[in-house]
Amino acid sequence: MDVNLGKLARYLRLLGFDTEWRNDLRDKEIVAVSTRKQRTILTRDRRLLFHREIRHGYWIRAVNPNLQAPEVLNRLDVWRNIRPFRRCALCNGLIQVVAKEEILDKLEPLTRKYYDEFYRCTGCGQIYWKGSHYDKLMKKLKSFRDHA
Ligand SMILES: [Zn+2]
Repeated sequence: MDVNLGKLARYLRLLGFDTEWRNDLRDKEIVAVSTRKQRTILTRDRRLLFHREIRHGYWIRAVNPNLQAPEVLNRLDVWRNIRPFRRCALCNGLIQVVAKEEILDKLEPLTRKYYDEFYRCTGCGQIYWKGSHYDKLMKKLKSFRDHA
């Protein structure tokens, strides 16, 4: 994904899609990564897709990330592949269930008190639980469906 699509990248990761995004990649590097790893390029910059080597790319029309997400899910036809909480929003790593005892020292007191089910990113170690972030994501997903 091109550097301007950070918010969309986070949404797609939270919905479970393998999404490579960094804010320091130049166009040439994005093209190289896409051909080497057979990834589809998503971009707001049409000129990026003019490179001859690109096999799969899509120019996103919407400017608002809340509309970009349903546009991409429609275009790539991947609604049925949505797996919330499968990938880390920060690093794209896979998320796995982790025992509460293992991460007790990393939890805030209220989180420790009210939640028992936790997940940890295998990439960066970020901890997730089905609290307010999860509820927000589910609301987001509903709004994406409404815009689809
Ligand atoms: Zn991570």
